Amino acid sequence: MSKIIDINFKPTLYKYKKPFHITGSISYEAKNLEIIIKTKSGAEGYGEVSPSWRVNGESIDIIISLEKKVKEVLIGEEVRNWRRILEIIDTFKSTPGLKSALGFAVIDAFCVECGISVWEFFGGYTDNIETDKTVSIGEVDEMVEDAIKINKEGFGKIKIKVGENLLKDIEAVYEISKKTKAEYIVDANMGYLPKEAVYFAKKLYSLGVDISLFEQPVNFVDIEGLKYVRYNSPYPVCADESLKTRYDAKKLAKEEAVDFFNIKLGKSGISDALSIVEIAKSFNIGLMIGCFSESSIGVNQSIHFACGIGGFKYVDLDSHLMLDEKEYRGKFIQKKNKIFVKK
Ligand code: MN
Repeated sequence: MSKIIDINFKPTLYKYKKPFHITGSISYEAKNLEIIIKTKSGAEGYGEVSPSWRVNGESIDIIISLEKKVKEVLIGEEVRNWRRILEIIDTFKSTPGLKSALGFAVIDAFCVECGISVWEFFGGYTDNIETDKTVSIGEVDEMVEDAIKINKEGFGKIKIKVGENLLKDIEAVYEISKKTKAEYIVDANMGYLPKEAVYFAKKLYSLGVDISLFEQPVNFVDIEGLKYVRYNSPYPVCADESLKTRYDAKKLAKEEAVDFFNIKLGKSGISDALSIVEIAKSFNIGLMIGCFSESSIGVNQSIHFACGIGGFKYVDLDSHLMLDEKEYRGKFIQKKNKIFVKK
């Protein structure tokens, strides 16, 4: 076991294969940053942050400005003291994506030194998970076409982005449900008012559409609104933008506001994500894992976390499938919708 001797910040740029449109935002590219941690014994750990201004108020410039501070507090630390290191990393409160990349890179380096994989470190629950793939907002015909294509590629779970136009959204989800055979996760990314969300859900239910998960129907601050949707709509409600820290999880659980938590390492960092899992278990709240615009090296973090911990009923780890990336570099193998960790 040895000390951290260097931390490398490496900015990267990826283009989306097709512009990714969700409520209030269209992404054409992802400006990410890789973290490479080197230890004295020669081990290397890899992390990646895909900063989200929309969700976290985090940007690539802010992250780069913290390089000196990161080196100052982490170089010299022993990777086997990873829990103590996570406490140090947690002091970077305003950059949760950076926290997740640093935390993962430390644990990755520690695992290299131990000769184990990160999914084994987190618990070794399962060596594979099944991801959905996402249909972004577009014209109804275009969304249906995308959903059919995703279904034909072998995905049995389809995530549908809605939230900008209530009546068109209902039509799009209804048409997709008629033309594909899949489980549907619908994500409004905070786009509806509580009453609109309930109208949306009741209307689709009356049309016979089965939705597995209704993700973040209302604004992230509106916990009462989430609860209103949960108790007045037939579909399970999942918190995404409302759930960043362990304190958010505690509040959502105490308020009985949601049925599921969508954990993203980029919103929480490793230590809060670990806490959120336990809070979810304590309150019988279901688990989902999601991502931002990470490349394969960043999605790798969430894959190993989810496989190791286990119990993630819904997996939305498809950002690397949407980016134009020359080759996948994570320690996993992608076979259509199935992801296997390398052993
Ligand atoms: Mn979401």
